[in-house]
Amino acid sequence: MGSFRLGTILGIEVRIHISWFVIFLLILWTFSQGVFPEAYPGLPGWNYYAMGVAGALLFFASLLAHELAHSVVARRRGVAVEGITLFIFGGMARTRMESRSPGDEFVIAGVGPLSSVLLGVLFGALWWTGERLGLSRAVTGVAEYVGFLNVVLAVFNLLPGYPLDGGRLLRSAIWKATGSMERATRVAAVGGELLAWAFMGWGAWQTVRGQVLDGLWMVFIGWFVRNAARSGYRQFAVVHALEAVPAREAMSRWPETVSPGLTLRELESERSRRGHFDGYPVVTGDGRVLGLVTVAQVRSVPEAEWPVRTVGDVMLPLDPGLQVDSGDSMARVLDKLGAAGAAAAGRLLVMRDGKLEGIITPLDVAGWLKRAPSLKRI
Ligand SMILES: [Zn+2]
Repeated sequence: MGSFRLGTILGIEVRIHISWFVIFLLILWTFSQGVFPEAYPGLPGWNYYAMGVAGALLFFASLLAHELAHSVVARRRGVAVEGITLFIFGGMARTRMESRSPGDEFVIAGVGPLSSVLLGVLFGALWWTGERLGLSRAVTGVAEYVGFLNVVLAVFNLLPGYPLDGGRLLRSAIWKATGSMERATRVAAVGGELLAWAFMGWGAWQTVRGQVLDGLWMVFIGWFVRNAARSGYRQFAVVHALEAVPAREAMSRWPETVSPGLTLRELESERSRRGHFDGYPVVTGDGRVLGLVTVAQVRSVPEAEWPVRTVGDVMLPLDPGLQVDSGDSMARVLDKLGAAGAAAAGRLLVMRDGKLEGIITPLDVAGWLKRAPSLKRI
């Protein structure tokens, strides 16, 4: 939402949120109008614009490197990464699940600030060497500021409030100490809120003292961190719930089934008598599950052939994409429901030891979400 695709790097989709353009222009403007002319006076005017563009682009690349570091390490540790979104203040690697252990969480969170520090050192070295080689200040100045900004980025991200990296490190430590990921997340999210209020309070104080622009900037950062802490915790709670709950809690038990020998004509008249489902599991008399038949499949056969064609002729044969185990997590159910899609009339067979236990449709998922106790605290 509000973002568009930039491309794919190392197999990870990179998107840009519209708000990012605001920060880009702001950085460009600050660099070319304020920072560079002040720090390096006496250069031709157009130099400052070139430095501004180069500085803003390099800073953007640095943010991207920070998020890529998180994403690549997360993927190595078995956490699925959907992609990276860059927005105002930085970026976010979108993951669909949580780390499996505090150790994984520590490494995944820590590698971001670490890469920013390394970039800071790298740009610092460029600046240092450039100065000694007598390169133009237009070049060394950009290196100096981008290096500095990377260090600022690392420090900001290390503040101990979830979902900032520092908050994730704190969470991994509490998780390790208490063994409870949920409690650790809650404490780290409170850390995020406190941090946010500290920013806003400091900003208000600065504003009162007459430093209005700096003050408002701080208030804005605080507001952003507060929102991130809340939505980060909410997202955690949802993902956590989806991973903790097995499919059997959301499925409908004893679904209506049909036998493979039934003709399509018989199936249609059964449907008009007994209720209108869009799909039925196909089960033999002795309980073997053969597949799924959907109304769309029946309709794709000319009506004249209905008396002679059978359910067994047209059904989707049972394959791994059509079924889940009743012990599989709801996260897996949602993945498979999405992948199976309209072809399976939006339903999955819930199996256990080769026997049909139930069926899951998006309606079952919605009903379960309403009942789910672990989601009520959000
Ligand atoms: Zn980070």
